[in-house]
Amino acid sequence: MKHAERTIPMGWYQRKAHEEVDHIFQKLLPRHGLKVMEEQLRLSHEMLDTLWGNRIALCDAGVGIGKTYAYLVACIMLEKYRKEGGGAPGTGCRSAVISTSSIALQEAIMQEYIPFLSRLLQEVTLIRTPLKAAVRKGKEHFVCDNRLEQRLLAIQGKRKNEGQRQALLALRTCYDMDQVHGLSGFDRRLVCVPKFCPKNCLKKETCRYRRYMGKAKNERVHFQICNHNYLLADAYHRVKGYRPLLADYKLLVADEAPKLSEAAGQMCGKRLGYEDICFLLEREHQGMRARRLKAAMDNLFETIAEENTVEDGKRIAFRKTERCGKLMEEGASLLYKTAKRCKGSIPKWLRSWLDAKFLCRFLIPDRKYILYLELCGEGRPVLCTADREIPGYLREMLWKRGFPAILTSGTLKAGNDFRRTRKILGLDEIDMGKKAAVQEYTAASPFAYAKNCLLYLPKDSKKVRHGSRREILEIAGQIRQLVISTHGHTLVLFTSYFLMGNVCQILRGNLPFPMMEVWRHAQEEILRFKKQENAVLFAAGACWEGVDFPGDMVSSLIIVRLPFAVPDPVKEAEKEQYGSLREYIGNVVVPDMQKKLKQGFGRAIRTEKDTCVVSVLDYRAGEGGRYHGDVLCALPECQRAGTLEDVEEFIRNRKSMEYYM
Ligand code: SF4
Repeated sequence: MKHAERTIPMGWYQRKAHEEVDHIFQKLLPRHGLKVMEEQLRLSHEMLDTLWGNRIALCDAGVGIGKTYAYLVACIMLEKYRKEGGGAPGTGCRSAVISTSSIALQEAIMQEYIPFLSRLLQEVTLIRTPLKAAVRKGKEHFVCDNRLEQRLLAIQGKRKNEGQRQALLALRTCYDMDQVHGLSGFDRRLVCVPKFCPKNCLKKETCRYRRYMGKAKNERVHFQICNHNYLLADAYHRVKGYRPLLADYKLLVADEAPKLSEAAGQMCGKRLGYEDICFLLEREHQGMRARRLKAAMDNLFETIAEENTVEDGKRIAFRKTERCGKLMEEGASLLYKTAKRCKGSIPKWLRSWLDAKFLCRFLIPDRKYILYLELCGEGRPVLCTADREIPGYLREMLWKRGFPAILTSGTLKAGNDFRRTRKILGLDEIDMGKKAAVQEYTAASPFAYAKNCLLYLPKDSKKVRHGSRREILEIAGQIRQLVISTHGHTLVLFTSYFLMGNVCQILRGNLPFPMMEVWRHAQEEILRFKKQENAVLFAAGACWEGVDFPGDMVSSLIIVRLPFAVPDPVKEAEKEQYGSLREYIGNVVVPDMQKKLKQGFGRAIRTEKDTCVVSVLDYRAGEGGRYHGDVLCALPECQRAGTLEDVEEFIRNRKSMEYYM
């Protein structure tokens, strides 16, 4: 859509900004091999208007739309013309903040998108100076020169894993620890920048971290790039009147925006494992107190483990027994005494960890908090609290500050609307002094799903009891048939590791193609799958998002069950906000399932030329099933099939001979 076709009345500068957006997407980027995509162009215009109008926009951007270029160009044009036009709100502070949830995206923005745009726009004199960006992240990601030297001295002449020693040495030239591979968690904690630097640090003058901070806070930086946790920590500092973490900014782009709510949940929630405080105390040379506390905590957490059945990957409600309550009282009292005795000898932030109030929340429950248990990596329970007021905090900390914001992702829309996203992000009651302060845009994916994607909802899916042996056999049988029909090239997504394990057990050695299983943190298996021509990958958890399998590698995506969230104490608390179960299902359960389904579906087609069969094996998704309509509403329009013959025909018609080699 060209600026001239737009109906919103606008001034000269705004019109000029839109003209340049047209020029960039229609002329400049295509000269460098990028295709003109009308939806991307429209999205960038909408984003520019949102920023210009000091509003907030929820932009649901389909796969492959190129939303990163859309918002970067909108931000650059705003910066250019708002500055030249003068009188814009917030022009006193210059940079934009781009907040994401994944490091991969931050790196791509820093190392690819911004340098490319900067070069391109300078060449044609659309901008005069290079675009500058800085990644902003917590101190724990950077190395402290002082601590590094101490650590290197300490390991000199001692036996140490050679890879870890080399990683430590590499920190002499690279101060960003995320860029150095092979660093052990222990070393990382020992050499990271401390919460508070000693005033008399001898390396202060040459400290690389301090130099980096000086550059990052420079007002000539156009983009500050951070993760959602850092953005929220900065917002919290501002609300509380502490020193902000980020340099002042005038607009926000939250990419992967739904994760903002999860990040806020982490920030407002608290966790206590049996070793957490003890480890921190030991690090501050409080060994004796740490040992005493460890004994008490060990006892308490042993008892919790005995009295509650906590399963890996699940949250369960905390059940207080008399014995556990007594140990908690003792633990709280010991924490209180330790905090008092350590006053002056440990930093303030560590004293807040010794807060006995946390344990007291489990003794005298407060409605503000949801109490639950989870398992830590070592298989021991962790006490957790979650706050019920997350949307309210986001509203207070971010949206009420009145700066314009773009929130984008491919899963902002659930079904036909943005209601669920508005609710969880605290945007349902926002009034920035204008009508419709929160706008909604949908930019459809440029991929031809109707032609290239077949949605297979088996006609003969049987209703079987969840968790039963029959269910496992039924699923294994269906997967085997599908894998044969599509000649491998399959990704199977499960909603539970338990079900995946049982199905894999039946299929191991029973498939005519290489079979791989991705358990937690198994990146190597994903890489191995990518190197095979026609393998079958079984996955769950994180593989529902963020993994990319372009080309024929995944020509069949099997979604075993509709991805409904597992009930847990946090969900139960949310249920209480609704008058009836039906209301809760309609407003929360189904929209959350639709978002997750859309996310999983996104693994199928990654480029314009990809062709794929997407099968949903859940009988509730099939024709006449309870969620049939919700499934269709969540996904783009595709061809549909109900039999395996249709699947085979689709693959035969779409794939070349090499596919079968
Ligand atoms: S100033 Fe702080 S970060 Fe820098 S070397 Fe000293 S203690 Fe480490």
